[in-house]
Amino acid sequence: METLLLNADEKSLDLASSLLHDGKLVAFPTETVYGLGADAMNRDAVLSIFSAKGRPADNPLIVHIYDRSQLKELCTIPEQAVSLMDAFWPGPLTLLFEKLPAVPDEVTAGLPTVAVRMPSHPVAAALLRSCRLPVAAPSANSSGRPSPTKASHVLEDMQGKIPLILDGGSCDVGLESTVLDILHGTPTILRPGGVTKEMLEQVLHTEVAVAGSVLRPLRPDETALSPGMRYKHYAPKASVVLVEGKEPSVLSALRELYRKEAAAGKKTCVLCFTEHLNQLQDCSPHDIGSAAHMEEIAGRLFDMLRTLDLEGMECVFSEVVPPEGVGLAVMNRLGRAAAFRTIHADD
Ligand code: AMP
Ligand code: MG
Repeated sequence: METLLLNADEKSLDLASSLLHDGKLVAFPTETVYGLGADAMNRDAVLSIFSAKGRPADNPLIVHIYDRSQLKELCTIPEQAVSLMDAFWPGPLTLLFEKLPAVPDEVTAGLPTVAVRMPSHPVAAALLRSCRLPVAAPSANSSGRPSPTKASHVLEDMQGKIPLILDGGSCDVGLESTVLDILHGTPTILRPGGVTKEMLEQVLHTEVAVAGSVLRPLRPDETALSPGMRYKHYAPKASVVLVEGKEPSVLSALRELYRKEAAAGKKTCVLCFTEHLNQLQDCSPHDIGSAAHMEEIAGRLFDMLRTLDLEGMECVFSEVVPPEGVGLAVMNRLGRAAAFRTIHADD
């Protein structure tokens, strides 16, 4: 299959909309990452998302809408959802709702809940508005790879597998949406993202919990609240190890770890803050962004993980960020890229 990569304009949006109506797949930019969309009410179209991505069938999809009136055909709306939608939609917050029978089980992987989000990216919003369909769209990467934050990333993974990629430049947030469960007691973040725990607490006037497996691997006996958390994710081909501790100990540990692996002939690098580039200049430093700008780090992370593969990196040692605000989402993705392997530099 030929894969068209087109700038998002009126003509390509029309084409995208008619492809979606025909049950075909279209990759499009959102403010979080690029999505791989299909008509959410068309079972076969939804199934083709799973085959294009190589996604396990038990990992449910997020349904994208442009107007709250579309919820009527998808789900019931609990009262608590209203203030959250008022505050954060359109934007990077996905809410779980009790699903209606019309939503195919393939979308929700058989779960009684459906995840819904209203994206704010102008191209995503224009596409949803023009096709007037609820669009099921996971991230447009091959399963297990870092999510795409540029159209070129989508092409790397989806060339020959889908008919159209709409190019809308780089994604602003650069990490997937926050997934929030408000249906089962204490509101719980199943996946952290651009809408932070602190922001949610301000609107809900109550404490928000974070699922245990956000910052550690799922235990063998544990059920994943968010099925996606079960799977290896965001992992580059290199072995990634995180290094935490006080700044001087982290810097000397990074130098030591780099030296050892490089001396053993491994293609090695360190991921560090802009502020540490000079001090780590002999360690093939890769700039993850300024420690003072967490949004910058979030926006670069997936592109950085893909770059490591393109460079043929074998060993990667990375600094960590405090798991607060957007830092929680950064540490979730970085932690999973490293399979949560961490060295404590102060020990
Ligand atoms: P992706 O769109 O690739 O970012 O993946 C969607 C994420 O949303 C996955 O991690 C899913 O586990 C999560 N998700 C989607 N639907 C549900 C649901 N009904 N219950 C819990 N998590 C969900
Ligand atoms: Mg994904």
